[in-house]
Amino acid sequence: MLTDFEATRKHAVTGMFIDLCQQCFKTVQMDANLPTKDRRDLISEDDIDDSVEAEDEHDSNIGDTLDGKDY
Ligand SMILES: [Zn+2]
Repeated sequence: MLTDFEATRKHAVTGMFIDLCQQCFKTVQMDANLPTKDRRDLISEDDIDDSVEAEDEHDSNIGDTLDGKDY
């Protein structure tokens, strides 16, 4: 079950719907950095909570995150 935000995420070049939940999408993004078009106005608390949880569970390198290297 995708949120509105997840369901409307498209590939920026092909215009194809990515059709992945936030967690699966993140996994894909680690391998292939896809250009996407997001409906950021559709981001809900669910989407935000999801990604925070995923980071906590799967990212043991909290120091890296705090360093802000990802930005
Ligand atoms: Zn998924």
